[in-house]
Formats: sequence, structure tokens, C-alpha cells
Amino acid sequence: MDCIFCKIIAGDIPSKKAYEDEFCYAFHDINPQTPVHILVVPKAHIASADGINAENSVYAAKIFEAIPKIAAEVGLNGGYRIISNCGEDACQTVKHLHFHIMGGRRLPENMG
Ligand code: 5GP
Ligand code: ZN
Repeated sequence: MDCIFCKIIAGDIPSKKAYEDEFCYAFHDINPQTPVHILVVPKAHIASADGINAENSVYAAKIFEAIPKIAAEVGLNGGYRIISNCGEDACQTVKHLHFHIMGGRRLPENMG
């Protein structure tokens, strides 16, 4: 499958790793929008949050178990924002479920 995040998980495309376990892989965004900008992705190809179902929701659960560990690992002591763009109206560009973990400065209140 021609999926950039599957290739990153496989190591075929290099990335700067922040965290990894059996269910997920986290790495620094190539085009950071905040001082700390991590992407965490499931190690199974799920196209977006809209593709989470009873069969694969363990990946979502495990990602949310991992997020506090990832945040601590990258020093997000003051808090952080979790974003998942889902579909066209949200401007999702990579069609492999991912959660942006963003922080390292005070973020704006407005979410768009
Ligand atoms: P989306 O717009 O789909 O929510 O977010 C996709 C994110 O993936 C963007 O923030 C973009 O910078 C990041 N991204 C796209 N290609 C790569 C890549 O090859 N490596 C890394 N580290 N990040 C990428
Ligand atoms: Zn994929």
C-alpha cells in the first residue's frame, strides 16, 4: 500500500522517533507548527478517526495510554493539545490515522 506513514512505521522512510510500542509509533512532525509537534500513529493502517471500529479500537485505546508517556518523554510539562484531522473538511492530508501532540508554548484558545 502506498501509505507514507506505513512506510515510516516500517522504517522505509526515516523519521525522528519519540516513542514506540507494540501498538503505536510516535515521531516528530517534519513541518512542526509548534515548538514540540509529535505525530502518533497506530501500527495498523486505519485511514482516519472515522475508520475506528469495534475490531480495531484497541489501537486508539493504546495510543491514548501512550500519549502521557510520549508527552513526558518530550518534556510537555505545561500541557499539550491533541488533534486528529479527519477527512476533507478537516484538511486531513495523510490518510493514515494520526494524532498531533502539540505544545511547548501557550496555544491559542481558538480551534478554528
Ligand atoms: P494532517 O494534515 O493529515 O493532519 O497531518 C499530516 C502531518 O504529517 C503534517 O503535519 C505533515 O507535516 C506531516 N508529515 C507529512 N509527511 C511527513 C513525513 O514524511 N515525515 C514526517 N515526520 N511528517 C510528515
Ligand atoms: Zn498506512
